[in-house]
Amino acid sequence: MKVRVPLMIMDPAGSQLGIDRLVEDWTGIEEDHYLDGPVTPRVAVVDLDPDTERNVPGATFRPPAGDRKLGAYAVDRKDFYSPNFIQVNAFGSVLRTMYMFEEPDTLGRKVDWGFDAPQLLVVPRAGWWANAFYERRSHSLQFFSFRPEGGAGDRVVHTSLSRDIVAHETAHSLIDGIARDLYDALDPQSLALHEGLADLTAVLIAFRSHTLCEAVLDKTGGSIEHSKAFSSIGDEFGDALNQSGHPLRDLLNDSTLPPDPADEPEEHELSLVLSGALYDFMCHLHAGARQRLAEETGKSELEVSGKALFEASERFKRLILRGLDYLTPGEVAFIDYARAILAADQASHPADEDRAHLIEELVRRGIARSPAELEVQTDFPSPAVAAADLQGLVDSDWVAYTFADKNRDLLSIPNYAEFEVLPRRVVTKQYYLDDYRRTKRTTPVTELLFKVRWSETEENPPELGAATRRIQTGTTLVIDWDKKVVRACLKPWDLKGRAPARTAMLRRLMTNGLVSFTSPAGAEAKSQPFGSGIDAVVTDGILRVHNTARLLHIARSVDDD
Ligand SMILES: [Zn+2]
Repeated sequence: MKVRVPLMIMDPAGSQLGIDRLVEDWTGIEEDHYLDGPVTPRVAVVDLDPDTERNVPGATFRPPAGDRKLGAYAVDRKDFYSPNFIQVNAFGSVLRTMYMFEEPDTLGRKVDWGFDAPQLLVVPRAGWWANAFYERRSHSLQFFSFRPEGGAGDRVVHTSLSRDIVAHETAHSLIDGIARDLYDALDPQSLALHEGLADLTAVLIAFRSHTLCEAVLDKTGGSIEHSKAFSSIGDEFGDALNQSGHPLRDLLNDSTLPPDPADEPEEHELSLVLSGALYDFMCHLHAGARQRLAEETGKSELEVSGKALFEASERFKRLILRGLDYLTPGEVAFIDYARAILAADQASHPADEDRAHLIEELVRRGIARSPAELEVQTDFPSPAVAAADLQGLVDSDWVAYTFADKNRDLLSIPNYAEFEVLPRRVVTKQYYLDDYRRTKRTTPVTELLFKVRWSETEENPPELGAATRRIQTGTTLVIDWDKKVVRACLKPWDLKGRAPARTAMLRRLMTNGLVSFTSPAGAEAKSQPFGSGIDAVVTDGILRVHNTARLLHIARSVDDD
Protein backbone atom coordinates (compact mmCIF):
# COMPACT_ATOMS: atom_id res chain seq x y z
CA MET A 1 0.00 0.00 0.00
CA LYS A 2 1.22 3.48 -0.84
CA VAL A 3 1.20 6.26 1.68
CA ARG A 4 1.31 10.05 1.40
CA VAL A 5 3.39 12.09 3.83
CA PRO A 6 4.25 15.79 4.11
CA LEU A 7 7.99 16.55 4.04
CA MET A 8 9.70 19.68 5.20
CA ILE A 9 11.92 20.80 2.32
CA MET A 10 13.48 23.89 3.88
CA ASP A 11 14.51 24.63 7.42
CA PRO A 12 11.61 26.70 8.76
CA ALA A 13 13.63 29.63 10.13
CA GLY A 14 15.61 31.81 7.78
CA SER A 15 14.06 30.33 4.67
CA GLN A 16 13.25 32.62 1.80
CA LEU A 17 10.45 30.34 0.67
CA GLY A 18 6.91 31.31 1.62
CA ILE A 19 5.41 29.33 4.46
CA ASP A 20 3.09 27.44 2.10
CA ARG A 21 6.03 26.17 0.10
CA LEU A 22 8.07 24.83 3.01
CA VAL A 23 6.30 21.49 2.83
CA GLU A 24 6.01 19.11 -0.10
CA ASP A 25 3.84 16.01 -0.31
CA TRP A 26 5.58 12.76 -1.09
CA THR A 27 3.57 9.78 -2.25
CA GLY A 28 6.39 7.34 -2.93
CA ILE A 29 6.29 5.30 0.28
CA GLU A 30 5.38 1.66 -0.22
CA GLU A 31 6.04 -0.69 2.69
CA ASP A 32 4.42 -4.00 3.65
CA HIS A 33 2.35 -2.64 6.50
CA TYR A 34 1.93 0.42 8.68
CA LEU A 35 1.22 1.08 12.34
CA ASP A 36 0.82 4.25 14.39
CA GLY A 37 4.11 5.92 15.13
CA PRO A 38 4.79 5.78 12.17
CA VAL A 39 6.02 2.19 12.36
CA THR A 40 6.78 -0.13 9.43
CA PRO A 41 8.71 -3.41 9.26
CA ARG A 42 11.95 -1.54 8.46
CA VAL A 43 11.64 1.80 10.25
CA ALA A 44 10.04 2.64 13.60
CA VAL A 45 9.65 6.16 14.97
CA VAL A 46 9.96 6.39 18.76
CA ASP A 47 9.22 9.92 19.94
CA LEU A 48 10.23 11.17 23.37
CA ASP A 49 9.15 14.30 25.18
CA PRO A 50 12.44 16.24 25.40
CA ASP A 51 11.65 17.42 28.96
CA THR A 52 10.40 14.21 30.56
CA GLU A 53 12.02 11.76 28.10
CA ARG A 54 8.76 9.79 28.23
CA ASN A 55 7.24 8.18 25.16
CA VAL A 56 4.91 10.45 23.21
CA PRO A 57 1.99 8.81 21.33
CA GLY A 58 2.82 8.39 17.66
CA ALA A 59 0.84 9.74 14.71
CA THR A 60 -2.24 7.65 13.89
CA PHE A 61 -2.28 5.68 10.66
CA ARG A 62 -5.25 6.14 8.34
CA PRO A 63 -5.72 3.43 5.72
CA PRO A 64 -7.19 4.46 2.34
CA ALA A 65 -10.93 5.15 2.54
CA GLY A 66 -13.53 6.45 0.12
CA ASP A 67 -11.93 8.77 -2.45
CA ARG A 68 -8.62 8.66 -0.69
CA LYS A 69 -6.60 5.99 -2.52
CA LEU A 70 -3.43 6.43 -0.48
CA GLY A 71 -2.78 5.72 3.16
CA ALA A 72 -1.81 8.65 5.37
CA TYR A 73 -0.89 9.68 8.88
CA ALA A 74 -3.02 12.08 10.90
CA VAL A 75 -1.00 15.27 10.86
CA ASP A 76 -1.57 19.01 10.46
CA ARG A 77 0.83 19.93 7.67
CA LYS A 78 1.00 23.56 8.78
CA ASP A 79 1.83 22.84 12.40
CA PHE A 80 5.55 22.06 11.99
CA TYR A 81 6.30 21.97 15.68
CA SER A 82 3.54 19.55 16.65
CA PRO A 83 4.77 16.12 17.79
CA ASN A 84 2.85 14.37 15.00
CA PHE A 85 4.35 16.53 12.27
CA ILE A 86 7.84 15.99 13.68
CA GLN A 87 7.29 12.21 13.77
CA VAL A 88 5.82 11.88 10.29
CA ASN A 89 8.35 14.24 8.70
CA ALA A 90 11.27 12.29 10.20
CA PHE A 91 9.74 9.01 9.05
CA GLY A 92 9.19 10.27 5.50
CA SER A 93 12.62 11.88 5.24
CA VAL A 94 14.34 8.67 6.39
CA LEU A 95 12.41 6.54 3.88
CA ARG A 96 13.01 8.97 1.08
CA THR A 97 16.76 8.64 1.61
CA MET A 98 16.54 4.83 1.86
CA TYR A 99 14.53 4.63 -1.35
CA MET A 100 17.11 6.67 -3.24
CA PHE A 101 19.83 4.17 -2.31
CA GLU A 102 17.53 1.28 -3.30
CA GLU A 103 16.55 2.53 -6.75
CA PRO A 104 17.15 0.06 -9.62
CA ASP A 105 19.94 2.23 -11.08
CA THR A 106 21.58 2.76 -7.70
CA LEU A 107 22.05 -0.33 -5.50
CA GLY A 108 19.10 -2.22 -7.00
CA ARG A 109 18.13 -3.92 -3.77
CA LYS A 110 16.58 -3.41 -0.37
CA VAL A 111 19.33 -2.22 1.95
CA ASP A 112 20.58 -4.22 4.92
CA TRP A 113 21.31 -2.51 8.20
CA GLY A 114 24.75 -2.57 9.79
CA PHE A 115 23.19 -4.23 12.85
CA ASP A 116 21.45 -7.52 13.32
CA ALA A 117 17.78 -6.48 13.46
CA PRO A 118 15.08 -5.63 10.93
CA GLN A 119 14.13 -2.15 12.17
CA LEU A 120 15.97 1.14 12.28
CA LEU A 121 14.70 3.15 15.25
CA VAL A 122 14.21 6.84 14.57
CA VAL A 123 14.06 9.12 17.60
CA PRO A 124 13.02 12.57 16.30
CA ARG A 125 13.21 14.22 19.74
CA ALA A 126 15.85 12.39 21.73
CA GLY A 127 16.46 15.17 24.29
CA TRP A 128 18.13 18.56 24.66
CA TRP A 129 21.44 18.86 22.83
CA ALA A 130 22.63 20.60 19.67
CA ASN A 131 23.45 17.39 17.87
CA ALA A 132 22.28 14.29 15.98
CA PHE A 133 23.84 10.93 15.22
CA TYR A 134 23.48 7.38 13.98
CA GLU A 135 24.38 4.70 16.51
CA ARG A 136 24.89 1.09 15.47
CA ARG A 137 24.70 -0.30 18.99
CA SER A 138 21.16 0.97 19.63
CA HIS A 139 20.08 0.55 15.96
CA SER A 140 19.01 4.15 15.99
CA LEU A 141 19.07 7.62 14.51
CA GLN A 142 18.88 10.14 17.32
CA PHE A 143 17.91 13.72 16.69
CA PHE A 144 18.16 16.27 19.48
CA SER A 145 16.53 19.66 20.04
CA PHE A 146 18.05 22.84 21.37
CA ARG A 147 17.36 26.48 22.16
CA PRO A 148 19.88 28.65 20.32
CA GLU A 149 21.74 31.05 22.56
CA GLY A 150 20.57 34.58 22.03
CA GLY A 151 17.65 33.23 19.99
CA ALA A 152 14.40 35.13 19.93
CA GLY A 153 11.94 34.14 22.64
CA ASP A 154 11.91 30.43 23.34
CA ARG A 155 12.70 29.43 19.80
CA VAL A 156 13.48 25.72 19.59
CA VAL A 157 15.46 24.03 16.82
CA HIS A 158 14.55 20.40 16.23
CA THR A 159 17.37 18.80 14.25
CA SER A 160 14.87 16.23 12.98
CA LEU A 161 13.04 19.00 11.08
CA SER A 162 16.16 19.70 9.02
CA ARG A 163 16.03 17.97 5.66
CA ASP A 164 19.84 17.98 5.47
CA ILE A 165 20.41 16.53 8.90
CA VAL A 166 17.88 13.70 8.54
CA ALA A 167 19.23 12.72 5.11
CA HIS A 168 22.79 12.93 6.45
CA GLU A 169 22.18 10.69 9.46
CA THR A 170 20.12 8.23 7.43
CA ALA A 171 23.00 8.01 4.98
CA HIS A 172 25.32 7.00 7.84
CA SER A 173 22.97 4.12 8.70
CA LEU A 174 22.75 3.05 5.03
CA ILE A 175 26.50 3.23 4.42
CA ASP A 176 27.00 1.19 7.58
CA GLY A 177 24.94 -1.58 6.01
CA ILE A 178 27.00 -1.55 2.80
CA ALA A 179 30.56 -0.89 4.01
CA ARG A 180 30.52 -2.09 7.61
CA ASP A 181 34.26 -2.02 8.21
CA LEU A 182 34.36 1.77 7.98
CA TYR A 183 32.76 1.81 11.41
CA ASP A 184 35.88 0.37 13.05
CA ALA A 185 38.50 2.00 10.83
CA LEU A 186 41.48 3.86 12.21
CA ASP A 187 42.26 5.68 8.97
CA PRO A 188 40.74 9.16 9.36
CA GLN A 189 39.89 9.08 5.64
CA SER A 190 37.59 6.08 6.24
CA LEU A 191 35.56 8.14 8.70
CA ALA A 192 35.79 11.20 6.48
CA LEU A 193 34.41 9.11 3.61
CA HIS A 194 31.41 8.20 5.79
CA GLU A 195 30.97 11.87 6.58
CA GLY A 196 31.48 13.21 3.07
CA LEU A 197 29.03 10.75 1.54
CA ALA A 198 26.47 11.60 4.21
CA ASP A 199 26.76 15.28 3.24
CA LEU A 200 26.51 14.49 -0.48
CA THR A 201 23.42 12.36 0.20
CA ALA A 202 21.84 15.42 1.80
CA VAL A 203 22.67 17.36 -1.38
CA LEU A 204 21.13 14.67 -3.59
CA ILE A 205 17.94 14.78 -1.53
CA ALA A 206 17.84 18.57 -1.87
CA PHE A 207 18.10 18.20 -5.67
CA ARG A 208 14.93 16.11 -5.54
CA SER A 209 12.79 18.95 -4.29
CA HIS A 210 11.21 20.68 -7.27
CA THR A 211 10.14 23.66 -5.23
CA LEU A 212 13.63 24.19 -3.92
CA CYS A 213 15.36 23.67 -7.28
CA GLU A 214 13.03 26.09 -9.04
CA ALA A 215 13.54 28.75 -6.38
CA VAL A 216 17.32 28.43 -6.46
CA LEU A 217 17.80 28.19 -10.24
CA ASP A 218 15.53 31.19 -10.78
CA LYS A 219 17.69 33.23 -8.47
CA THR A 220 21.05 32.14 -9.84
CA GLY A 221 20.22 32.30 -13.54
CA GLY A 222 20.27 28.52 -13.81
CA SER A 223 23.61 27.57 -12.31
CA ILE A 224 24.68 25.90 -9.08
CA GLU A 225 28.40 26.72 -9.22
CA HIS A 226 28.15 29.95 -7.30
CA SER A 227 25.19 29.28 -5.05
CA LYS A 228 25.48 27.95 -1.55
CA ALA A 229 21.83 26.91 -1.51
CA PHE A 230 22.68 23.26 -2.21
CA SER A 231 26.32 23.10 -1.19
CA SER A 232 25.91 24.29 2.38
CA ILE A 233 24.86 21.60 4.80
CA GLY A 234 22.64 22.32 7.79
CA ASP A 235 22.09 26.04 7.32
CA GLU A 236 19.66 26.76 10.10
CA PHE A 237 21.46 24.44 12.44
CA GLY A 238 24.81 26.06 11.72
CA ASP A 239 23.36 29.55 12.19
CA ALA A 240 21.76 28.67 15.47
CA LEU A 241 24.87 26.94 16.69
CA ASN A 242 27.60 29.41 15.87
CA GLN A 243 25.56 32.59 15.24
CA SER A 244 28.01 33.58 12.56
CA GLY A 245 25.82 32.68 9.62
CA HIS A 246 28.11 29.83 8.62
CA PRO A 247 26.62 26.52 7.63
CA LEU A 248 28.07 23.40 9.24
CA ARG A 249 30.04 22.61 6.11
CA ASP A 250 30.26 24.03 2.62
CA LEU A 251 30.96 21.65 -0.22
CA LEU A 252 31.84 24.52 -2.56
CA ASN A 253 35.39 24.62 -1.30
CA ASP A 254 38.96 24.32 -2.41
CA SER A 255 40.31 22.05 0.33
CA THR A 256 43.26 19.83 -0.48
CA LEU A 257 45.06 17.11 1.43
CA PRO A 258 48.20 18.11 3.33
CA PRO A 259 51.41 16.58 1.91
CA ASP A 260 52.05 14.64 5.13
CA PRO A 261 49.24 12.22 6.08
CA ALA A 262 50.08 12.79 9.75
CA ASP A 263 48.88 16.40 9.36
CA GLU A 264 45.36 15.57 8.24
CA PRO A 265 42.62 17.42 10.15
CA GLU A 266 39.83 15.71 12.09
CA GLU A 267 37.34 13.73 10.03
CA HIS A 268 34.59 16.35 9.54
CA GLU A 269 37.01 18.90 8.12
CA LEU A 270 38.92 16.22 6.26
CA SER A 271 35.70 15.08 4.57
CA LEU A 272 35.52 18.41 2.74
CA VAL A 273 38.46 17.45 0.53
CA LEU A 274 36.56 14.49 -0.88
CA SER A 275 33.07 16.00 -0.89
CA GLY A 276 34.48 19.21 -2.38
CA ALA A 277 36.10 17.32 -5.24
CA LEU A 278 32.92 15.36 -5.91
CA TYR A 279 30.68 18.41 -5.66
CA ASP A 280 32.90 20.15 -8.17
CA PHE A 281 32.23 17.22 -10.50
CA MET A 282 28.50 17.58 -9.91
CA CYS A 283 28.73 21.24 -11.00
CA HIS A 284 30.69 20.16 -14.06
CA LEU A 285 28.02 17.60 -14.98
CA HIS A 286 25.29 20.17 -14.53
CA ALA A 287 27.02 22.78 -16.70
CA GLY A 288 27.61 20.16 -19.41
CA ALA A 289 24.01 18.94 -19.39
CA ARG A 290 22.69 22.50 -19.45
CA GLN A 291 24.76 23.40 -22.48
CA ARG A 292 23.84 20.23 -24.33
CA LEU A 293 20.12 20.47 -23.61
CA ALA A 294 20.09 24.12 -24.66
CA GLU A 295 21.73 23.22 -27.97
CA GLU A 296 19.37 20.29 -28.52
CA THR A 297 16.18 22.21 -27.79
CA GLY A 298 17.05 25.74 -28.88
CA LYS A 299 15.93 26.99 -25.46
CA SER A 300 17.98 29.15 -23.10
CA GLU A 301 20.28 27.56 -20.56
CA LEU A 302 18.09 28.93 -17.78
CA GLU A 303 15.00 27.26 -19.26
CA VAL A 304 16.68 23.87 -19.40
CA SER A 305 18.62 24.24 -16.12
CA GLY A 306 16.05 22.32 -14.08
CA LYS A 307 16.00 19.38 -16.43
CA ALA A 308 19.79 19.47 -16.60
CA LEU A 309 19.99 19.44 -12.82
CA PHE A 310 17.80 16.36 -12.67
CA GLU A 311 19.85 14.55 -15.31
CA ALA A 312 23.21 15.50 -13.79
CA SER A 313 22.21 14.67 -10.22
CA GLU A 314 20.96 11.22 -11.27
CA ARG A 315 24.25 10.51 -13.00
CA PHE A 316 26.09 11.82 -9.93
CA LYS A 317 23.98 9.63 -7.61
CA ARG A 318 24.84 6.52 -9.62
CA LEU A 319 28.51 7.41 -9.57
CA ILE A 320 28.97 8.09 -5.87
CA LEU A 321 26.63 5.42 -4.43
CA ARG A 322 27.15 2.43 -6.72
CA GLY A 323 30.88 2.62 -6.07
CA LEU A 324 30.22 1.72 -2.44
CA ASP A 325 29.60 -1.88 -3.51
CA TYR A 326 33.07 -1.94 -5.09
CA LEU A 327 34.86 -0.61 -2.02
CA THR A 328 37.56 -2.80 -0.49
CA PRO A 329 36.94 -4.20 3.01
CA GLY A 330 38.81 -2.91 6.06
CA GLU A 331 40.68 0.39 6.23
CA VAL A 332 40.12 2.58 3.18
CA ALA A 333 41.55 5.88 2.06
CA PHE A 334 39.95 8.39 -0.32
CA ILE A 335 41.91 6.91 -3.19
CA ASP A 336 40.37 3.46 -2.58
CA TYR A 337 36.91 4.98 -2.79
CA ALA A 338 37.92 7.05 -5.84
CA ARG A 339 39.14 3.92 -7.60
CA ALA A 340 35.93 2.09 -6.62
CA ILE A 341 33.61 4.73 -8.06
CA LEU A 342 35.69 5.09 -11.20
CA ALA A 343 35.65 1.31 -11.72
CA ALA A 344 31.88 1.06 -11.21
CA ASP A 345 31.37 3.93 -13.63
CA GLN A 346 33.84 2.79 -16.25
CA ALA A 347 32.41 -0.75 -16.23
CA SER A 348 29.11 0.71 -17.37
CA HIS A 349 30.23 3.72 -19.43
CA PRO A 350 33.64 2.77 -20.92
CA ALA A 351 33.71 5.77 -23.25
CA ASP A 352 32.48 8.52 -20.97
CA GLU A 353 34.46 11.74 -21.34
CA ASP A 354 33.37 13.45 -18.14
CA ARG A 355 35.45 11.14 -15.95
CA ALA A 356 38.66 12.88 -17.08
CA HIS A 357 37.45 16.02 -15.30
CA LEU A 358 36.86 14.10 -12.08
CA ILE A 359 40.28 12.44 -12.28
CA GLU A 360 41.97 15.79 -12.76
CA GLU A 361 40.14 17.20 -9.76
CA LEU A 362 41.05 14.21 -7.55
CA VAL A 363 44.71 14.70 -8.42
CA ARG A 364 44.51 18.46 -7.85
CA ARG A 365 43.14 17.84 -4.35
CA GLY A 366 45.96 15.45 -3.50
CA ILE A 367 43.68 12.40 -3.29
CA ALA A 368 45.79 10.71 -5.98
CA ARG A 369 49.36 11.59 -6.87
CA SER A 370 48.81 11.17 -10.61
CA PRO A 371 46.06 10.18 -13.07
CA ALA A 372 47.85 6.84 -13.46
CA GLU A 373 46.95 5.97 -9.86
CA LEU A 374 43.31 6.25 -10.81
CA GLU A 375 43.49 3.96 -13.82
CA VAL A 376 41.32 0.92 -13.24
CA GLN A 377 40.90 -2.16 -15.35
CA THR A 378 37.30 -3.17 -16.00
CA ASP A 379 35.50 -5.92 -17.92
CA PHE A 380 38.47 -8.19 -18.47
CA PRO A 381 38.65 -11.97 -18.81
CA SER A 382 40.15 -14.18 -16.14
CA PRO A 383 40.57 -17.94 -16.62
CA ALA A 384 39.84 -18.50 -12.91
CA VAL A 385 36.56 -16.61 -13.11
CA ALA A 386 35.56 -18.19 -16.42
CA ALA A 387 36.03 -21.64 -14.90
CA ALA A 388 34.37 -20.88 -11.57
CA ASP A 389 31.04 -22.28 -10.44
CA LEU A 390 29.49 -18.92 -9.58
CA GLN A 391 26.44 -20.32 -7.80
CA GLY A 392 28.80 -22.54 -5.79
CA LEU A 393 30.83 -19.47 -4.80
CA VAL A 394 27.67 -17.88 -3.49
CA ASP A 395 26.20 -20.89 -1.71
CA SER A 396 29.23 -22.55 -0.17
CA ASP A 397 31.76 -20.96 2.17
CA TRP A 398 34.11 -23.82 1.41
CA VAL A 399 33.92 -23.37 -2.37
CA ALA A 400 34.41 -19.64 -1.91
CA TYR A 401 37.40 -20.12 0.38
CA THR A 402 39.06 -22.64 -1.96
CA PHE A 403 38.55 -20.31 -4.93
CA ALA A 404 40.19 -17.43 -3.06
CA ASP A 405 43.05 -19.56 -1.77
CA LYS A 406 43.84 -20.80 -5.28
CA ASN A 407 43.68 -17.24 -6.65
CA ARG A 408 45.72 -15.32 -4.12
CA ASP A 409 47.51 -13.56 -6.98
CA LEU A 410 44.33 -12.27 -8.60
CA LEU A 411 43.03 -11.17 -5.19
CA SER A 412 46.38 -9.78 -3.96
CA ILE A 413 46.19 -11.87 -0.78
CA PRO A 414 49.69 -12.12 0.76
CA ASN A 415 51.00 -15.65 1.21
CA TYR A 416 51.26 -15.23 4.97
CA ALA A 417 47.72 -13.91 5.42
CA GLU A 418 44.93 -15.93 6.92
CA PHE A 419 41.93 -14.49 5.17
CA GLU A 420 38.17 -14.79 5.39
CA VAL A 421 35.64 -14.60 2.59
CA LEU A 422 32.79 -12.26 3.47
CA PRO A 423 29.17 -13.23 2.69
CA ARG A 424 28.76 -13.06 -1.10
CA ARG A 425 26.16 -10.81 -2.60
CA VAL A 426 24.47 -11.10 -5.99
CA VAL A 427 22.94 -7.83 -7.13
CA THR A 428 21.19 -6.73 -10.29
CA LYS A 429 21.40 -3.06 -11.19
CA GLN A 430 20.11 -1.14 -14.16
CA TYR A 431 23.04 0.27 -16.09
CA TYR A 432 22.56 2.95 -18.70
CA LEU A 433 23.81 2.21 -22.19
CA ASP A 434 26.38 4.48 -23.80
CA ASP A 435 23.77 6.42 -25.74
CA TYR A 436 21.69 6.90 -22.58
CA ARG A 437 21.61 10.67 -22.80
CA ARG A 438 19.49 10.46 -25.90
CA THR A 439 17.67 7.18 -25.46
CA LYS A 440 17.51 6.66 -21.66
CA ARG A 441 17.99 2.99 -22.42
CA THR A 442 19.18 0.76 -19.60
CA THR A 443 20.19 -2.84 -19.35
CA PRO A 444 20.25 -5.04 -16.24
CA VAL A 445 23.68 -6.23 -15.14
CA THR A 446 24.00 -8.90 -12.47
CA GLU A 447 27.10 -8.61 -10.33
CA LEU A 448 28.59 -11.04 -7.87
CA LEU A 449 30.39 -9.10 -5.13
CA PHE A 450 33.15 -11.28 -3.77
CA LYS A 451 35.14 -9.79 -0.88
CA VAL A 452 38.05 -11.23 1.05
CA ARG A 453 39.44 -9.70 4.21
CA TRP A 454 42.58 -10.29 6.22
CA SER A 455 44.48 -8.47 8.92
CA GLU A 456 47.91 -6.89 8.94
CA THR A 457 49.99 -5.78 11.89
CA GLU A 458 51.99 -2.58 11.94
CA GLU A 459 54.19 -0.67 14.33
CA ASN A 460 52.44 1.41 16.93
CA PRO A 461 54.10 4.00 19.18
CA PRO A 462 54.32 2.11 22.50
CA GLU A 463 52.94 5.09 24.44
CA LEU A 464 49.71 4.61 22.45
CA GLY A 465 48.72 1.35 24.11
CA ALA A 466 50.99 -1.29 22.59
CA ALA A 467 54.02 -1.59 20.31
CA THR A 468 51.99 -3.32 17.59
CA ARG A 469 48.51 -2.74 16.26
CA ARG A 470 46.25 -4.79 14.05
CA ILE A 471 44.27 -3.39 11.15
CA GLN A 472 42.03 -5.00 8.57
CA THR A 473 42.20 -4.82 4.81
CA GLY A 474 40.99 -6.76 1.79
CA THR A 475 40.09 -7.05 -1.86
CA THR A 476 36.81 -6.74 -3.74
CA LEU A 477 36.29 -8.81 -6.86
CA VAL A 478 33.23 -7.92 -8.91
CA ILE A 479 32.17 -10.57 -11.40
CA ASP A 480 29.78 -10.04 -14.28
CA TRP A 481 27.43 -12.94 -13.63
CA ASP A 482 26.24 -13.48 -17.20
CA LYS A 483 29.46 -12.81 -19.10
CA LYS A 484 31.67 -14.48 -16.46
CA VAL A 485 34.30 -11.78 -16.74
CA VAL A 486 35.83 -9.53 -14.09
CA ARG A 487 34.04 -6.21 -13.93
CA ALA A 488 36.63 -4.93 -11.49
CA CYS A 489 39.12 -6.21 -8.97
CA LEU A 490 40.18 -3.66 -6.38
CA LYS A 491 42.93 -4.17 -3.82
CA PRO A 492 44.05 -1.80 -1.07
CA TRP A 493 45.99 0.95 -2.81
CA ASP A 494 48.35 2.45 -0.27
CA LEU A 495 47.78 0.68 3.03
CA LYS A 496 51.34 1.11 4.30
CA GLY A 497 51.57 4.73 3.22
CA ARG A 498 48.52 5.53 5.35
CA ALA A 499 50.09 4.27 8.61
CA PRO A 500 51.20 7.77 9.77
CA ALA A 501 47.60 8.99 9.42
CA ARG A 502 46.36 6.09 11.54
CA THR A 503 48.97 6.83 14.20
CA ALA A 504 47.99 10.51 14.21
CA MET A 505 44.32 9.59 14.60
CA LEU A 506 45.07 7.27 17.51
CA ARG A 507 47.16 9.97 19.17
CA ARG A 508 44.36 12.47 18.77
CA LEU A 509 41.80 10.06 20.26
CA MET A 510 44.07 9.44 23.21
CA THR A 511 45.06 13.07 23.78
CA ASN A 512 41.38 14.02 23.83
CA GLY A 513 40.49 11.28 26.26
CA LEU A 514 38.20 9.62 23.75
CA VAL A 515 39.89 6.27 24.12
CA SER A 516 42.21 4.75 26.67
CA PHE A 517 44.25 1.59 26.71
CA THR A 518 44.61 -1.18 29.18
CA SER A 519 47.19 -3.91 28.91
CA PRO A 520 45.61 -7.05 30.25
CA ALA A 521 47.21 -9.09 32.99
CA GLY A 522 47.77 -12.38 31.25
CA ALA A 523 46.66 -13.06 27.72
CA GLU A 524 43.01 -12.21 28.20
CA ALA A 525 41.64 -9.31 26.22
CA LYS A 526 40.24 -6.34 28.03
CA SER A 527 37.85 -3.94 26.47
CA GLN A 528 37.68 -0.41 27.78
CA PRO A 529 34.55 1.33 26.65
CA PHE A 530 34.65 5.04 27.42
CA GLY A 531 32.07 7.76 27.24
CA SER A 532 32.79 8.12 23.56
CA GLY A 533 31.96 4.45 22.97
CA ILE A 534 35.25 3.86 21.18
CA ASP A 535 36.84 0.63 22.39
CA ALA A 536 40.52 -0.23 22.51
CA VAL A 537 41.46 -3.84 23.06
CA VAL A 538 44.95 -5.15 23.68
CA THR A 539 45.36 -8.88 23.11
CA ASP A 540 48.78 -10.51 23.45
CA GLY A 541 50.44 -7.13 23.12
CA ILE A 542 48.57 -6.19 19.95
CA LEU A 543 46.18 -3.27 19.90
CA ARG A 544 42.89 -3.21 18.03
CA VAL A 545 40.45 -0.30 17.99
CA HIS A 546 36.68 -0.52 17.40
CA ASN A 547 33.71 1.81 16.90
CA THR A 548 35.65 4.87 15.79
CA ALA A 549 32.64 5.93 13.70
CA ARG A 550 31.01 7.04 16.93
CA LEU A 551 32.98 10.24 16.41
CA LEU A 552 30.64 11.14 13.56
CA HIS A 553 28.07 13.39 15.21
CA ILE A 554 26.51 16.07 13.08
CA ALA A 555 28.19 18.71 15.22
CA ARG A 556 31.66 18.10 16.58
CA SER A 557 31.38 18.14 20.32
CA VAL A 558 33.81 20.31 22.26
CA ASP A 559 35.65 17.20 23.47
CA ASP A 560 36.72 16.41 19.91
CA ASP A 561 39.05 19.35 19.50
ZN1 LIG B 1 27.91 12.65 10.00
